[in-house]
Amino acid sequence: GCYKEKETEVSRPLATPSANNKNSEEGNKKLKIGFSMDTLKEDRWLRDRELFREAVEELGAEVEIYAANGDDALQILQAETLISKGVDLLVVVPHNAEAMATIVKKAHSSGIKVLSYDRLIKNADVDLYISFDNEMVGVLQAEAITKIVPKGKYVYIGGADTDNNAHLIKKGVFHVLQPYIDKGNITVVYDQWSKNWDPEYAYSNMEAALKANNKDIDAVIAANDATAGSAIKALEKYGLAGKIPVAGQDGDLPAAQRIIQGTQTMTVYKPIKALAEEVAQIAVQMANGKTISVENKVNNGKVEVPTILLSPIAVTKENMDATIIKDDFHSKEEVYKK
Ligand code: BGC
Repeated sequence: GCYKEKETEVSRPLATPSANNKNSEEGNKKLKIGFSMDTLKEDRWLRDRELFREAVEELGAEVEIYAANGDDALQILQAETLISKGVDLLVVVPHNAEAMATIVKKAHSSGIKVLSYDRLIKNADVDLYISFDNEMVGVLQAEAITKIVPKGKYVYIGGADTDNNAHLIKKGVFHVLQPYIDKGNITVVYDQWSKNWDPEYAYSNMEAALKANNKDIDAVIAANDATAGSAIKALEKYGLAGKIPVAGQDGDLPAAQRIIQGTQTMTVYKPIKALAEEVAQIAVQMANGKTISVENKVNNGKVEVPTILLSPIAVTKENMDATIIKDDFHSKEEVYKK
C-alpha cells in the first residue's frame, strides 16, 4: 500500500518569540513545513524523516510528512495536499526529477517556496537545493576501488535513471575511471541502471554481468548499499563474494557489517543528521520570509538553483570506528556482530 505519513501536532503551543517571525505577528500561529518524500525503503530515509521532524520542531515550527512509495502520481497528489493545507514552505525529495517540476509551479502560484532535499528537481524554478556532493560520492567510490584494482574488468551497477543523483554519482565514477579506460587498463564490461533503485534489478544486472563475462570480472561499483548488497548476493552464488572488491553508498547497517566481514570494500557515509538539520534551519528561515544567500549554483535545466552541498565520507574497514561508529550512526556491537 502507500506509506501515508501524517505528522501533525494536536496541541499548538506558542511559537518561539522571534523578531523576524511573520507568524507571531499573525497571532502566534506556528509555521508549518510540508515534507514530501519519495520512499522509506532504504534505511536512511527513515532517519531523514525522524531527524528532519525533530529539527523542525526544535525550531518551534511543525511539519507534515508524506511518503509516496515510489509512485509519481501519488507524490504529486500528496504535495498538492500539503499546498492546499497551507504549508508555509514545501521540502521535496523527488522520486522522479522531472515529474515533480509541476509541483514547484503549483507551490509558487500559492506563494510557497520549494526546497529540493537530497535530490534535485529538474526543469523547475526550485528555490534552493541542499544535498551531499553526489559527484564526490562517485569519485570516492572509484578512487577506493581503482586503488585496489588499477587494471581489470569493471561492472557498474547504477541507481535509478529517474533520480538526478544517480547521474551525478555515475559522472563522478567515470571521471575517475576515464584515464584508466583511456590507457586500456580498465574496461567497463557492464553498465546498467537499476530501475527505481530496486535491489532486484541490481541482482539481475549483476547476474547478467557475470554470465556475459563468463564470471571473469575484477571489480564492482554499485550506486548504493542496497544495490551493492544485491551484487554481493549474486557474487556469492558464484563463489566470488569477498574475492571481488565492491563499492556502495549510504553507510547502511548491512553494508557496514559486510565491510567488517570482508564481502564489501567500502561505503560512502553521509551524515544524515547534518543534512536534516541544515534543511530544517533554512526551511524555517525561508518560511519566515528571510532571504538565504548562497554562492554555489547548480543548473537544473531551467534555472541556476542556489545549492548547498555537504561532504560525503569514504568508509572502509580502517576508518569504520572513526566515522560511522564515532557518530553513533550505528553502534559498534551492531556493526561487528558475527
Ligand atoms: C540517495 C541515496 C539513496 C538512493 C535510493 C539517492 O537519491 O542519495 O542515499 O540510497 O537515492 O533511495
